[in-house]
Amino acid sequence: MRFAPSPTGPLHIGGVRTALYNYLFAKKHEGDFILRIEDTDQNRFVEGAEDYIVESLNWCGIPYDEGPGKEGDCGPYRQSERKEIYREYAEKLIESGQAYYAFDTAEELDAHRKDHEEKGKTFIYNWHNREKLKNSLSMDATDVQEKIAKDDAYVIRFKSPENEELHLQDIIRGEMEINTKILDDKVLYKSDGMPTYHLANIVDDHLMAITHVIRGEEWLPSLALHYMLYRAFGWEAPQFAHLPLILKPQGKGKLSKRDGEKMGFPVFPLEWKDPKTGDISTGYREEGYLPEAVTNMLAFLGWNPGTEQEFFNLQELVEAFELERVHKGGAKFDPEKTKWFQQHYIQQANTEELTNSFLEFLKEKEISAEKNYVHSIVELLKERVVFVKDFWEEGYFFFTNPTSFEPKDAKKAWKEDTPELMKELRDYMQTIEDFTSENLQESVKSWIKNKEIGFGKVMMPLRLALVGALQGPDLYVIAEKIGKTSTLGRITKAIE
Ligand code: GLU
Repeated sequence: MRFAPSPTGPLHIGGVRTALYNYLFAKKHEGDFILRIEDTDQNRFVEGAEDYIVESLNWCGIPYDEGPGKEGDCGPYRQSERKEIYREYAEKLIESGQAYYAFDTAEELDAHRKDHEEKGKTFIYNWHNREKLKNSLSMDATDVQEKIAKDDAYVIRFKSPENEELHLQDIIRGEMEINTKILDDKVLYKSDGMPTYHLANIVDDHLMAITHVIRGEEWLPSLALHYMLYRAFGWEAPQFAHLPLILKPQGKGKLSKRDGEKMGFPVFPLEWKDPKTGDISTGYREEGYLPEAVTNMLAFLGWNPGTEQEFFNLQELVEAFELERVHKGGAKFDPEKTKWFQQHYIQQANTEELTNSFLEFLKEKEISAEKNYVHSIVELLKERVVFVKDFWEEGYFFFTNPTSFEPKDAKKAWKEDTPELMKELRDYMQTIEDFTSENLQESVKSWIKNKEIGFGKVMMPLRLALVGALQGPDLYVIAEKIGKTSTLGRITKAIE
């Protein structure tokens, strides 16, 4: 199996899904998973894109067995480093009469296109007009040799059959029929000495002994040509599976970067800074998602196990994955579902790891705290969070004094006689030696009882003083954690 992205920009989550399905299938069948960089189109090459791809796969936990930086039998893994190989194969097709040199210049082709447009037709370079165009099938052999010797620019085109019914197989879609009549003679080899995607892709899949090709639906229109190329070389074609499109959350049209920006969810695994514009697009990693949540979500984008089970770690996915259960229809993207997976995986995550991540978060805020203390807060708040940053949202008051009081809550909790009451409470709490939550609860409760006033009259303003709002976990636990000095200090501050 292979994942063969072109380094033309950041890997979209659709690309990550393709990589994931390839990985799952390979591992299920004890095969190798190869990363091949298809960088034959030099005009579309984007600096940093390859590193981004590698880092994304690593972060998602989809390691490749062979690829850039992991040499094996199939290298090199960048098509730009395999240039010489393709030339030889293009020539083989010329020798066997299945491809030809074409000398038409870009201007000439444009003129043909325009000419056709004016007549309301589309210009297709194939059997019906190739005799009239400038190529080695329509020219004298010596002229052709002369042109090549003179270094005239040419491309090599595939000679598509005139009228043949092709039967194409796809694991997900079944059999498809297509007549070659409508196909054009695709360029296989370009004037810059580079193969096109089609030639390089077929040659490499063959040389790398790829048995199954899993790729996006956008490559389905190329399948006929790929079939014909395998046949022209006399090679057995791999089996193909074209994955369904990933659709917008509303369900209509392909999911795009803009949908993510508009609705506030990432469409990239990692943050990406466009080298040309400097624009930054956020990624799942930077938004605080766990890779397990992202891969689980992606696995279900076009596939289901046929059971009720929804949570799958990578190993479970490997065992359950079947290409036959991938559906043809587009898969609607659901950002809420990703959050739901995230919530599950953060609850599963081990407290030690979460503590370390939250310590990092605090460090960025320039807040220093003892690891044991942070650990105990993480334990306390774990059930309430979806992201690591939520530990802060839910528990900032464990680390810092509230700087303001939520107006709505203040209005509800702080009455005319509250300051006096808080003063008395503070003086009383001053006398409590054992500042544990259990003892605090017992003492404060009986203090309130003795005063014969409602609990809310004391507990609400106390919460406001310690937290800044009427929310958060058990108040006695908060008091114990922040300690006596801080508790009394916060009450004093609230009274002032
Ligand atoms: N280089 C192609 C891409 O960027 C690969 C398509 C294929 O897997 O054949 O998606």
